[in-house]
Amino acid sequence: MTVDTTSFHTRAVHAGRGQGAASSRATPIYLTAGFEFDDFDHAADHFGTGAGFGYTRTGNPTVRAVERQLAALEGGADALLLASGQAAVATALLTVAGAGDHIVSSTHIYEGTRGLFLDNLARLGIETTFIDDIADPSAWLSAIRPNTRALFAESIANARNDILDIAAISAVGDEFAIPLIVDNTLATPYLVRPIEHGAAVVVHSASKFLAGHGSVLGGVLVDDGRFDAAKAGHNAPHLVLPGRGGQPSVVERHGANARGAYARESVAPRFGASPSPLNAFLIGQGAETLGLRVERQSRNALEVARWLEAHDAVESVDYVGLESHPDHARAVAYLDGGFGSIFTFTLRGGLEAARDFVESVQVFTHMTHIGDVRSLVLHPGTTSHSARTDAERDELGVKPGTLRLSIGIEDVSDLVGDLSRVLTGARETVA
Ligand SMILES: *Cc1c(COP(=O)(O)O)cnc(C)c1O
Repeated sequence: MTVDTTSFHTRAVHAGRGQGAASSRATPIYLTAGFEFDDFDHAADHFGTGAGFGYTRTGNPTVRAVERQLAALEGGADALLLASGQAAVATALLTVAGAGDHIVSSTHIYEGTRGLFLDNLARLGIETTFIDDIADPSAWLSAIRPNTRALFAESIANARNDILDIAAISAVGDEFAIPLIVDNTLATPYLVRPIEHGAAVVVHSASKFLAGHGSVLGGVLVDDGRFDAAKAGHNAPHLVLPGRGGQPSVVERHGANARGAYARESVAPRFGASPSPLNAFLIGQGAETLGLRVERQSRNALEVARWLEAHDAVESVDYVGLESHPDHARAVAYLDGGFGSIFTFTLRGGLEAARDFVESVQVFTHMTHIGDVRSLVLHPGTTSHSARTDAERDELGVKPGTLRLSIGIEDVSDLVGDLSRVLTGARETVA
């Protein structure tokens, strides 16, 4: 061991530096702002071509490993990990649209995404038209304008559990070379992989099922790598025209991966919602058990939904796994391995019954989150959807007595036991 002759403050930051290569089987966590360059030319190469790692906002080996894992699960060409689901949605939209452009979106989307369209993208000059009857391709078709740059929807939508006909809606977009962007958070790639059905881009809140344990936030954008410059170039001048200072275009440099490359090079690192490598590790570790959890959660959810549907205190259950759900047939066609674990149900006793419910549950946790290993409950009418009017809430399937459940991996008998105990009281209130 060499004797360290440097002084205290220097030793504090330089001593003990490990450079030995070890083959960690788990993904190593590169918790570092940046990476040392081997030599002068290495630095110049990195800045010139973007190859290798220089600074964690533009690339990190832990993050990259998780991106490859998630791209493989979604069947995409590449993935981009971000700091949150909202960052993934914003990055996807800012990759395809700019001032003067237009987006057609399902009205049945996450409230945060709706706010992004209405408050933020609108201020940047991007206009959105919302479609209510998302099952009707002609509703999407008639909303398309010459400046439409994306169709946006969720594969399974909260609160009514609508199932998107991904093939039909992506076909509508294809006619005009407009990409369909699907938020696949509630379904997860275990149940459906939208790119296999024609979607161009998939986004997720990785904070939910992918990470799975309610401990971190994250988001992911997966691109299909099927950008066709000849067909879609007129809708994406930023991909086909020369870069700043006459540099080669994104398409010249990345071909069919141009859209994903633009998100990685020019949108995500500039707006700056980069994930922490530690959070990336936790998302990657969570995703290793995604299938096991979603399979179990879906099975539990179906049993809970059937039990609720048969209960006197319950007016309706909006779970696509039930034969009574209007989208059940489409769910059978698209979802493989279960029907997901997030759904709403409505108590006959209205707001007061809902209040009693959330205050009486013991196994369920009362919080605003989904896709956790633990079962969760929330009253959308007074929380996520409180800014909406009564009429809007009604149209979205959110009534005063409506509760949202996210079913976890507990033993289902304990979940039903908790509900049974709580609803015995509710039935007495109603009677
Ligand atoms: C939670 C969620 C988001 C936002 O993700 P965050 O990780 O909370 O930023 C977007 N879409 C859907 C469907 C969600 O459930």
